[in-house]
Amino acid sequence: MIQDLHIHTIFSSGDSAVVQEQTVEFIASLKHAKIVGISDHFEYIADKNYEIYKNTVKSSGFKTGTEVDGHKWADAAAKLEFDYYIYHCWDVPQDYKRIYTLLDTGKPVIIAHPYAIGTRLEKIPRECLLEINNRYIFKADWKNYLTPYLKDFDFILSSDAHQPHWLNQNIARFVADQLNITEKILFPEMLK
Ligand SMILES: [Zn+2]
Ligand SMILES: [Zn+2]
Repeated sequence: MIQDLHIHTIFSSGDSAVVQEQTVEFIASLKHAKIVGISDHFEYIADKNYEIYKNTVKSSGFKTGTEVDGHKWADAAAKLEFDYYIYHCWDVPQDYKRIYTLLDTGKPVIIAHPYAIGTRLEKIPRECLLEINNRYIFKADWKNYLTPYLKDFDFILSSDAHQPHWLNQNIARFVADQLNITEKILFPEMLK
């Protein structure tokens, strides 16, 4: 596969779906995608783990992302350096507003699995990317939810892997095919 930017590792220490084998080094050894980004939950890397997280991800040749859970975390996440943000935009006014805080960093902002958390796409700025996420897309009424917005947004496909055998995008790719979506490649310089 070409690009996978939504991946969790043992740095997401409070996420019970992550298994202990899911290390950055192990993912690097698998070479499952040409462009790889790690996006551990911001709340677990915000403080003392940030430097070691960033260094570990970088030294594997990956992009450093983070998954930000709504407005409570957006200001702090925007203050630290990341290559991109994956943002949980819950359907509350403060969450829509804080998207701009992340966009102001100039880094790509990916709206995380919006069909799974009730995000209303009419309220999302078009500079954001929408995620088709292998973990949740099959639970959603994706055709009705996404069809009105196919021309408005760029899309990325992701695994949202918490375990090594989740490192695939089979369902996300099926949906993208059905909707005639071509994924946006965010870091083409890694394609070599
Ligand atoms: Zn999520
Ligand atoms: Zn995630």
